[in-house]
Amino acid sequence: MTQPSASFYFPAPRTQSFCNQCGSKLTRLVPPDDNRMRDVCENCGAVHYQNPRNVVGIVPMWKDDQVLLCRRAIEPRYNTWTLPAGFMELGETLGQGALREMAEEAGAQVEPGPLFTVISVPYAEQVHAYYLAKVTSDVLDPGPESLEARFFHLDDIPWDNLAFRTVTATLERYVADHKAGRFQIHEFDIAPRDHD
Ligand SMILES: [Zn+2]
Repeated sequence: MTQPSASFYFPAPRTQSFCNQCGSKLTRLVPPDDNRMRDVCENCGAVHYQNPRNVVGIVPMWKDDQVLLCRRAIEPRYNTWTLPAGFMELGETLGQGALREMAEEAGAQVEPGPLFTVISVPYAEQVHAYYLAKVTSDVLDPGPESLEARFFHLDDIPWDNLAFRTVTATLERYVADHKAGRFQIHEFDIAPRDHD
């Protein structure tokens, strides 16, 4: 039997129909001693909790006044510019995840730096964390998730064609801190747009 091609696979939605312990259909209810609706299995009793996902990334700094951005080769937001970032994997730390995404999407060598932004995005059920890092070589090797990776002078950041509001918000704070001559940690929230 031939294996399905990679294009067969897609990220499953959050909602779940069946119990992954016993295969029975799930029911939406508030379990005893809880105060939120959960997906519950009324056959085996398993409660399928859902919690926010972590997205980790890097602000890759080059030659004092440039940053490295990647042009996305994947949906969502195909062909827009982004900081290297992605979902944290099980078993890794925030910093390890950020460096892994950096390597996968840009293939750049970096010297890891401090935490820079921590962004709650409750409507997307995510928390994003970006670290500063110094790029140590101009040799880039973007992976299959990027159409290209290149350096932008801070005056030339493509603000109208950035992939995500978390990327825009992080770059805005980076440019402001760069101008002020000192970098600090920024912790903030992003609310849904009115038309979302
Ligand atoms: Zn079950």
